[in-house]
Amino acid sequence: MATKQFKAESQRLLELMINSIYTNKEIFLRELISNASDAIDKSYYRSLVDSNISFNKDDFYIRITADKENRNLTITDTGIGMTKDELENNLGTIAKSGSLAFKNENEEKEGVDIIGQFGVGFYSAFMVSDVVTVISRSIDSEEAYKWESKGVEGYDIEPIDKETVGTEIILKIKTNTDDENYDEFLDEYRLKALIKKYSDFIKYPIKMMVKKSKEKEGSEKEDGKKEYEDYYEDETLNSMVPIWRKNKNELKQEDYDQFYMDKHFGYEKPLKSIHTSVEGLASYNALLFIPAKAPYDFYTKEFEKGLELYSNGVLIMEKCSDLLPDYFSFVQGLVDSADISLNISRELLQQDRQLKFIAKKVKDKIKSELSLMLKNDREKYDEFFKSFGRQLKYGVYSDFGTNKEVLQDLLMFYSSTEKKLVSLDEYISRMKEDQKFIYYATGESVEKIERLPQTELIKDKGFEILYFTDDIDEFAIKILMKYKEKEFKSVSSKDLGIESDEKENEKETQENKDLFDFMKEALSGKVKEVRASKRLKTHPVCLANEGELSIEMEKVLNMMPNNPNLKADKILEINTNHEMFDAIKKAFEEDKDKVKMYSNILYNQALLIEGLSIEDPVQFANDICNLIK
Ligand code: ADP
Ligand code: MG
Repeated sequence: MATKQFKAESQRLLELMINSIYTNKEIFLRELISNASDAIDKSYYRSLVDSNISFNKDDFYIRITADKENRNLTITDTGIGMTKDELENNLGTIAKSGSLAFKNENEEKEGVDIIGQFGVGFYSAFMVSDVVTVISRSIDSEEAYKWESKGVEGYDIEPIDKETVGTEIILKIKTNTDDENYDEFLDEYRLKALIKKYSDFIKYPIKMMVKKSKEKEGSEKEDGKKEYEDYYEDETLNSMVPIWRKNKNELKQEDYDQFYMDKHFGYEKPLKSIHTSVEGLASYNALLFIPAKAPYDFYTKEFEKGLELYSNGVLIMEKCSDLLPDYFSFVQGLVDSADISLNISRELLQQDRQLKFIAKKVKDKIKSELSLMLKNDREKYDEFFKSFGRQLKYGVYSDFGTNKEVLQDLLMFYSSTEKKLVSLDEYISRMKEDQKFIYYATGESVEKIERLPQTELIKDKGFEILYFTDDIDEFAIKILMKYKEKEFKSVSSKDLGIESDEKENEKETQENKDLFDFMKEALSGKVKEVRASKRLKTHPVCLANEGELSIEMEKVLNMMPNNPNLKADKILEINTNHEMFDAIKKAFEEDKDKVKMYSNILYNQALLIEGLSIEDPVQFANDICNLIK
């Protein structure tokens, strides 16, 4: 009988499989098992619609047999089988696989790993075998056929005896090369692990005769030593019903926790598990986890976000990053959808409408669960925020604030009055009648901000202040600009929006105009202005700030690798009620050089309070000594 040729495009894919430098050869098993499962689905369906076909649940299974000696790996199923025509058509032509379409477009580009991580179908068997034999009997036929191929040259097909309906795929596993270990595909442990990894949730049992060991009967000798003997036992290797397909009512928190740890999503129990199933434009089940703590590499470039993606119980991608926005990158878990095809390439997946739809739903779900936690389980939310609050703030800041609407309600900052983290909503609800702004102060730590002179007046007014201790805080807030129509205002900004005080300020500044101008001159360009301050109650001086760039932002930016050397516009504010001011006024009349020295000392003090470094510490030390003299 003449060997038949593959169709042109099939031949190309086959060549690709055989010669592929593709490293992920192990997925062939997933592909063949998924085909077997599809075939059983079809005969199950037949038994539902055709009363002549009886259905016995135990008759449906997939069996794996590894014969090391002959290097045969066999995958048997009790599915619908194939007729002679079907063998020719289905295995001689490849389905409209996404991978192939992509291959055509990219034929010229060398070295592109076009197969990616995706379903490549039946031909993937050729990645690991020299010969592939398919013996099949269709549910519609009395005859069985054997299809056999060694690769690109073509295939042979001939009748054969087979008692039962179904398909048997026999792979003659390649011998090891210097670079590749093929023996592992005949190894019981390795096969078990591969099935656990890729096919654990196939809904039919995947069986294998597994080697076990037992005590030999009557073997116990006088010295207590026992003898053991090997025996084989049929074992089902997959757990079949995935936890996410089970009914929520059947599951306890422990079940989710156990699954989370089994999957190595994290080292300790998750803070929250979210189990949803959605029907609609795309139907899917999702199991999402919010870890209790950030993994050690979370805030580094090495961290890779993503959810596992399953197509109807078959794992097709371990980290599908398109399912999670960056600001929720800490979420772990998986999505399983029958609407995502197993044979989809990574490139096509990115544009997949269903996937986009699922990603949006997943994002909305995470947001709503976090909002609920903030409202109803504050202790938990505090813990969450401690681990991942920074990521949310980065999320507000990045992409030019595109996502601020999603994230702003989830933010929390330390409050001067509540002495704990509060949300912006809570702040607004406590605002005083005459309060126009949401006030904030920036600094290294709560303790340091607590002592900042600039906070005095605001506190005196009884207004609440949010303390920004993270580098990112002020940057994020500048992107937000407002929350529910209320603007943010730094306690260091020139205009605090407290009217009566502003007027008085202005008056005092005018009265001492000559002195202040002289001081500004003495500080030769370091400050934009010297003026009277009403924000100070007990402290003598502080720095205020005008314009978009705050003093705290200057600090952060100047710590960056390619230091842009930006300077905030600083204003030196003097407490005119402080007794030191009388001394300056006196000096202004008697000894102008002294005023110069005082100006420098005060300016440097203000820098120190802000946590900025003094430009000339030696001069500062000398000035202090001169004072003491
Ligand atoms: P896909 O599964 O995406 O259709 P494959 O290349 O994996 O593509 O399989 C090609 C076709 O071969 C299947 O669609 C199916 O019709 C047939 N087939 C493969 N394996 C089996 C099997 N075990 N039983 C019945 N039909 C099969
Ligand atoms: Mg397939």
